[in-house]
Amino acid sequence: MMYLEVDGEVKLKAKKSLGQNFLVDENIIAKINDSIRVEENDLIIEIGPGMGALTKKLKNKNVNLICYEIDLDMEKYLNPLVDSKTNIIYQDILKSNIKDDIKNIDYKNLYIVGNLPYYITTSIIKYLINLDLDIKEMIFMVQEEVADRFTAKPNHKEYGSITLYLQYYFNITKLFKVSKKCFNPIPKVESAIIKFEQRKNKISINEEKYFKLIIDSFRMKRKTLKNNLNNYDFNKIKEVLDKYQLSENVRAEELSEEIFIEILKRIDE
Ligand code: SAM
Repeated sequence: MMYLEVDGEVKLKAKKSLGQNFLVDENIIAKINDSIRVEENDLIIEIGPGMGALTKKLKNKNVNLICYEIDLDMEKYLNPLVDSKTNIIYQDILKSNIKDDIKNIDYKNLYIVGNLPYYITTSIIKYLINLDLDIKEMIFMVQEEVADRFTAKPNHKEYGSITLYLQYYFNITKLFKVSKKCFNPIPKVESAIIKFEQRKNKISINEEKYFKLIIDSFRMKRKTLKNNLNNYDFNKIKEVLDKYQLSENVRAEELSEEIFIEILKRIDE
């Protein structure tokens, strides 16, 4: 545990096990706040508000605001922020029932934001996707390496099945880097802010089969697509590869979403 100074006094122990690295750089907090562009009748869900560094700024947007914080020690910082439009729910986000919690709120667009606890970044995002909430945008602080993985393009070393899975639902962009010095305690890794925008032109396919195809394709990173997909009818896949003038020895990391979807359609005919 790390002891933190709050308002000149040693008051709080940062819990490493909960990914507690608090943002202390006012310029960065303002920059994140500026990148969350909402209107008054929108709803923002904040994950892991901590001591409320970003929460205080979000409140000024005069939107509906719901925050999920697992650590009851944050009550003394967060409870004073509660009002008719701001609510704090002390709960593990992964066990929350967001649909139920927001059902009585009259809002137009849903935004989800947060300086995420890094030990569960991917689990949180998958959890939110599976809730099927019609999210307009998500703006998250994540580990820089994770930001690179989520925003990767084909032939990039970070491109993988999670990239394709997330990019199926969202257009994902890296907005800016955040130095580890902007946090207290200082984490081991550098960070970045990323934006997920709901894709309007989502293709209608059998999602379950598509996600299985991409997971199988990337199963062994060093292996060729053909080796990874040895349980599939490769003659059909080869027809698609030929169309794109790709070798039979191609690796999954060289294939775009468009090609994977064409492979899916061909093997699913
Ligand atoms: N937003 C604050 C800031 O920027 O200073 C704190 C960010 S800190 C990286 C992550 C926060 O998420 C901590 O306050 C931590 O207690 C909280 N947290 C960790 N696991 C959580 C979970 N499963 N559900 C909800 N909050 C969680």
